[in-house]
Amino acid sequence: MIKITTNITTHTAKLIGKNGNTTMLQWRAGTSQQEMRKSCEDAGCLFLGGGQYIDLDSGETIADSNLSITEGTAFSDPVYQGPNGEDAIRVDKCFSIFGTPYLGAYLTEIRNPERAGLAGLKLALSQIQRNADRARGALVGNASTVMSESEMAQVDSAIRDAGLFHILYDHAWRQNPWVLKYATASCNHFQDVRDAISMGATTLSLVMPQNLINRYRGKKIGDHVMIQCPENVSPKMSCLNCGGKSAPLCDARKRDKIIVLFYQHGSTSWKRSKEATIKNISKASVKPEVKPADRREKTILKKREEATLKELNRAIRLSDRGSIIEIGKRAISNVSKATAKRYRKFLGISS
Ligand code: SF4
Repeated sequence: MIKITTNITTHTAKLIGKNGNTTMLQWRAGTSQQEMRKSCEDAGCLFLGGGQYIDLDSGETIADSNLSITEGTAFSDPVYQGPNGEDAIRVDKCFSIFGTPYLGAYLTEIRNPERAGLAGLKLALSQIQRNADRARGALVGNASTVMSESEMAQVDSAIRDAGLFHILYDHAWRQNPWVLKYATASCNHFQDVRDAISMGATTLSLVMPQNLINRYRGKKIGDHVMIQCPENVSPKMSCLNCGGKSAPLCDARKRDKIIVLFYQHGSTSWKRSKEATIKNISKASVKPEVKPADRREKTILKKREEATLKELNRAIRLSDRGSIIEIGKRAISNVSKATAKRYRKFLGISS
């Protein structure tokens, strides 16, 4: 049996957006969580560990002692540089294997055995929306480490014969170069990109912080141009409408000469940490002296927190110093000295 599990998602936001009226067929590499995780280990994926610093160009690891760090604030991403000023990145943790895409596969092999293998894929294909035109492969895992090339050909054909585009990524393209015929090459640095292109990759992906994406977007490596994933830049975009009728950007068989840049979005990314800090500041800013006594008071407090969060995000976006200082100072008066120091630095408020 081909080691895949297929379902039709109604709530994977990156794939289908957030309106809840759409669906997409997605398959995972592996028929159990154990197999999915092993496929990532076999691929030697860097995102399984995360936290290390690498040179963006060469991919070499940079020791902490050789690293220069400019901490991030509400207005700028952190900057990491190697000993000679080279761009460096802090490797993120995988959003998929440490998030809902993996958790959602809990005991699927026992609860939904009908989803396994080629039969499971064909069953899902018979149930998709009539206007569906694309599917997502290897939402979790690396296909080339759990299946042979001929098995991949069967999976890909089943999807394309049903009239769908096939969005697929693989981290194990060095070990299994045949997968580049079917999958976007998941890369960690520019040397990976150069190597994958020389091995025949049509489409590639690279994860970076937004400040580096801003610098490299539109530039080329060979004939391949770097484009930021449209879902990253517009709430109206998702894999469902990306690329329109011509094919989603990450369909390796339909697209060519594209390097898709994703901002880091895993659990250890600056994006998540920044969002959490802004949320905590908003909460601290409206923290009452006495805890809410009942459900009504709790609801009122929640609404105040939400309104303050909206206001703070707006103020940061527009660099509205007056509002930032007002919200920030209220928060600082409600937290410990160490946290207050951190919030001041983050919001650029002097003591
Ligand atoms: S580039 Fe398009 S297909 Fe690829 S992940 Fe982004 S939205 Fe999806």
